[in-house]
Amino acid sequence: MTNSAFNTPPQTPPNFDATPEELISNTRAIIDKTRSLQDAIIASVPLKKATLANVLLPLAHDENASLCKRKISKFYSSTSTSAELREASNASEALFTAFDSETLMRKDLFELVHAVFERRVNLDNESQFYLEYKHREFARNGMGIIESEKQKRFAQIKVELHEKLIASRKSINSSSGIWLGESELDGVPDNIRKGLKKGEGEKAGKLWLPFKKPHYDAALKYAKNPTTRKKIYVGNDNRCPDNVPRVKEIVLLRDETARLLGYENHAEYQLEVKMAGSTGFVNDFLSGFREKLTMIARKELEALKALKAQNLEETALQSGVGTDTFFTWDYNFYSNISKAQNHSFDEKKFSEYFTLEKSLAGMMTTFSRLFGLQFVEIKPDENSTFGNEHVMTWHDSVSVFTLWEGSEDSDACNQGEFVGYLYLDLFPRDHKFNHAGHYLLQPGYFSEDGEYHYPSSALVMNLPTPQPGKPTLLSHDSTRSLFHELGHAIHNLVSRTQFAIFHGTATTRDFVEIPSIMLENWWWTPSVIKELGCHYSYISEEMLKAWEDSEGRENERPAEKLDDQSIQNLVATRRSNEALATLKQCHFAIFDMAIHSPSSREEVEGMNLSQMWNQTMSDITLMSGLEVEGEGWEWGHGCARIGAYIRGYDAGYYAYPLGKAYAQDLFKSMFEVDPMSKEVGMRYRRVVLEKGGSRNGMELLEDFLGRKPNAAARYEELGLAGGQLNPSRC
Ligand SMILES: [Zn+2]
Repeated sequence: MTNSAFNTPPQTPPNFDATPEELISNTRAIIDKTRSLQDAIIASVPLKKATLANVLLPLAHDENASLCKRKISKFYSSTSTSAELREASNASEALFTAFDSETLMRKDLFELVHAVFERRVNLDNESQFYLEYKHREFARNGMGIIESEKQKRFAQIKVELHEKLIASRKSINSSSGIWLGESELDGVPDNIRKGLKKGEGEKAGKLWLPFKKPHYDAALKYAKNPTTRKKIYVGNDNRCPDNVPRVKEIVLLRDETARLLGYENHAEYQLEVKMAGSTGFVNDFLSGFREKLTMIARKELEALKALKAQNLEETALQSGVGTDTFFTWDYNFYSNISKAQNHSFDEKKFSEYFTLEKSLAGMMTTFSRLFGLQFVEIKPDENSTFGNEHVMTWHDSVSVFTLWEGSEDSDACNQGEFVGYLYLDLFPRDHKFNHAGHYLLQPGYFSEDGEYHYPSSALVMNLPTPQPGKPTLLSHDSTRSLFHELGHAIHNLVSRTQFAIFHGTATTRDFVEIPSIMLENWWWTPSVIKELGCHYSYISEEMLKAWEDSEGRENERPAEKLDDQSIQNLVATRRSNEALATLKQCHFAIFDMAIHSPSSREEVEGMNLSQMWNQTMSDITLMSGLEVEGEGWEWGHGCARIGAYIRGYDAGYYAYPLGKAYAQDLFKSMFEVDPMSKEVGMRYRRVVLEKGGSRNGMELLEDFLGRKPNAAARYEELGLAGGQLNPSRC
């Protein structure tokens, strides 16, 4: 970014030229090649002579190369504008998944792996970890099932489950929204309202509010009319009706799988291979955490209720029942008002200092300094470097960067080693993944001849779409989210593992968020905010004009840098209603553990998930839904729209609160004193990030910290030093 020189990378970037037909034929060819390799190894290696070198390594080299193709093939389903390509992408992944099952059900192959496992000698750490991982993978995928009927059923479930997960993801990603009148959107910022589609015919005079993150969040936060917020919240909770029975079916299939494998339930199966290790550990953490948070949350809620009563009296708007009831759709709105009242934090003012372009540049500079990296954008006119036929991206709005070793202040870039490719797909469009996420497009690994294959990683966000002549301003939430996701991408890029399956963020799910949650702390550090912020009117003449058009020439132009008081006001908001917000997270995690750890099959069969979702929400978050208006407990089906439960965070949502606890431990212990310390940054890069998933996450944290991680830093920042309520927070 800071260096305009474009160095030719030693490896061509991925080519996004796939057609639906090719995607399928390539998938079949990859699978056929792997199957032939398996057959050849089984035919040529006797059990007595099986070693890592003649069984696992040839398979690993094949796996490394095929993973590069598979990840991109799968990626199209979340990002392509072509319905055919998205369909082909899903079909390709279904073929791969079916082949995974086939492979893991091969007794002859398992016997060879088992023979290597039994006589493992003198292996390097990563190879040893790989061998154990592969051996366990067979067991966890049915190799331990003796009876043939059960084996058959297990194989059936795998396919069925995969199909349901794809259908579920499709339902969650599909476009949905609500028509609202102009007046109903009173309070919602212009930048959101002006981008809304206008209705025609019988919808004339109405605006279409899509249930996409920026629109949904802004509407719940700013819409003054409580009925509007209720409509939006309830509409969103009911936007995936086809998923309501499907999620239950998924939970049942997971439960059946776990029982076939000899586990008590799905949660026990999931936790066996996680950093947390057991359901007991997770449930203890969640219940203890919830209990302590509730003490603070009750006080926060009292204050929000008072604010609501005052607001309703002033505006004479009625919310349905008595003002003593605090609805879940009231939270963002009143929390925002309370932030503004109690902390004088002006979000609009903050966002004027953080345009997308400048924020991104600042973030890249931060990563450059911390981890000794250099970002260089590949401009569209440089694409021909890779040949005229080469399709650089999957959409015109995507930008591409190369990463190189070498810090910003040195001239090492030209001599620096190539690190990988970074793709930024930042703006919403139809059928695109509708939250903020990162995707490893191609993992890094060492090929058979010892050459390193460089990784490619993509950020997929839904930030406000830039408008000509206007600045694209980011809220503080958006900047943190962007930095968080960029953190995942950097993890993917700086990782260096021998095997592709361990590359970068291919860690356990309860570890993977820790590095990025830790990075969010930078956006609460005054010196960082001061340095990275710049009022948009100072960026260019065009932006100055945009400011004058928006605010009027006669007004005093804001200072170039954000003032210290505003930064202090922002930092003060960090703990604002944090207990209530964290209880919402606990609701997701506790519900997740409850549905995935039934004590019997009958228990899961008898579960009414929507009812459980709403009841646990009311119990845990202390906020109400439509049940208090006589609508019963099935007024909404929130659990049917939660992507995390079908994207691998099943019996795994606890990773967010636990990850935050450990992330805060890392930050406070190692980075807080000097968040820009290159020395600490580089050590963290080498000890933690570089290892990816090639070692147990707990061990990596212990290596970096010099002790086991704990939740003390998290309790302390919440005002719960030593687990007790700190009087200063009362
Ligand atoms: Zn994340």
